[in-house]
This record gives sequence, structure tokens and C-alpha cells, in this order.
Amino acid sequence: MARGRCLCGALNYELGGPFDAMIHCHCSMCRKHHGAPFATFVVGPIANFHWTSDEAKAGRYRSSPDGVRTFCAICGSAGPSTMPELGVAAAPAAGLQGDLGIKPQSHIFVGSKAPWYTITDALPQHDAYPPGVGAQPVPRPVITPRAGITEGSCLCGGIGYEVTGTPVRMMYCHCSRCRLGRAAAHASNVFYKLDGFRWVRGADRVTEYKVPDARFHTAAFCSRCGGKVPRPSIERGLVTVPAGSLDTDPGIRAQAHIFVAYKAAWFDITGPEPRFAEMPPG
Ligand SMILES: [Zn+2]
Ligand SMILES: [Zn+2]
Ligand SMILES: [Zn+2]
Repeated sequence: MARGRCLCGALNYELGGPFDAMIHCHCSMCRKHHGAPFATFVVGPIANFHWTSDEAKAGRYRSSPDGVRTFCAICGSAGPSTMPELGVAAAPAAGLQGDLGIKPQSHIFVGSKAPWYTITDALPQHDAYPPGVGAQPVPRPVITPRAGITEGSCLCGGIGYEVTGTPVRMMYCHCSRCRLGRAAAHASNVFYKLDGFRWVRGADRVTEYKVPDARFHTAAFCSRCGGKVPRPSIERGLVTVPAGSLDTDPGIRAQAHIFVAYKAAWFDITGPEPRFAEMPPG
């Protein structure tokens, strides 16, 4: 039995084995919901799943005819979903505590993966669902890039933003706050100077959650869909853009894996980027 939680601790659940699948999903809906390059799910029998906190407090968003995504209405962490027609529940591995006794087995929806992310491990890759699962991906509108402008939006599309200028840096962060907040193996953040950033629509839907004992760490998400959105920081003069929310290629590629001392036990870093136990020097 693995216990799961969100970043703020308000949402709690349990998923019992046998865990017969653990997959990395690169679909655009997962990328937007988690704000990450991919989401990693552990799949178990639906009979062995239960909420241990008040289920009614979870936000819900129907992202496709066959899928309802849950998220914490307070901190925005993506939660588990149940698929009654398949008899299974899928929980974000990053929310589950302890040794899961399983490691990721494959990448799915590689056909719609982010242009800024390169898969470097040797796991099998499927363009969409693995053979045998009948559900279909939901197509998203194609955005034509405009020179010098990077655009993004939340999962439901209610929030949109754009940034002008070139990114300051891009990092994969493995700290426990990023893993719980994004409910993903690691965060992928692109940082821009604050003055180039603007909300195009839906600024009133943005909900923020600041981790009480953190200096800066603040999650930002759409109150309707739970999709991760940028967090402008006046104190730092920067905006942190969850790369999973991007609709156009930011041009930059991740420069390092940081806080790898805190990485998930089930995730093996295979990319060529430099790795730092905590922050890079300087
Ligand atoms: Zn929460
Ligand atoms: Zn997905
Ligand atoms: Zn939304």
C-alpha cells in the first residue's frame, strides 16, 4: 500500500498493488496539468484505491471524454484518477511515498512530446497509448510561433500568457517541493525577466500557493483545470514558467539537473546535462 499526497498535504490517498504498470506520459494534457515534460503514473487495481482525505475537496477537470483529472484545490498538485472501464486507478508516482517496488517501464504519447525535451533512456517508446488501450488523444490547436514571443496556456485554455525576450535559464529541478508540486519526476522551469511577461487572458483564474516554510517556492495553477502556470516574482524580478505549459518552443534547452540529492528513487537521470546536488555554484 503506497500513501500519496499533494504539496500542501490537504489531499491524501492510498493505492495498493499489485502495481502492474508505471509509465511516463508525454501527452499535451499531462504536460499542461503537471507543468512538466512528462507525467509518471503508477497503475493499480481500482479496488485498492481510496481517498484518505475529504475527496470532495479535490478539484476536478474533464480533460477528455474518457478522463477526469483531479488536483488539490489549495496547492494545485495533480492527484490520482480512476478509470472504471479499465478497472484501474492511476496515481502520480511523485505523490506516492516510500519504495514502490516498480520502476518506469515505457514512454507513451511520444508522438506528442515537447520539442524542448529529449528522451535519453532506453525504455520502449509508444507514439500514443500502448497497444490494447483504446482511448484516443484529444488534438490541440496548433500555434504558429511569432518571432521573439513565447506563448503558453493552461490545460483548459482559460489562462494564456506570452513572454517577449530570451530566457535567462532553464533547469530541471528534483527538489521535493517541485516533485510534489508538479506531481512529476522533476520540474522543468524556464526563467525570464519579469518585464517581458504578461497574462493574455484569465489572470483572475490564477491561484497561488506559497509553501509556508519556503523563502520563495510558490506554486501557481489554474483554479478551473489545475494546469500549472507561470509565477511572476516581483521580489526576484523573474517569472518562472513551467515548461509543460508552453505552446511554442522557448528555444532554450535545460542547462542542468539541480537538487539531484533529493531526486525520486524510481527515476534514473540519463540526460547529458550537468547534475548538481543542490544549486549550481555561482
Ligand atoms: Zn494540496
Ligand atoms: Zn498523458
Ligand atoms: Zn485552466
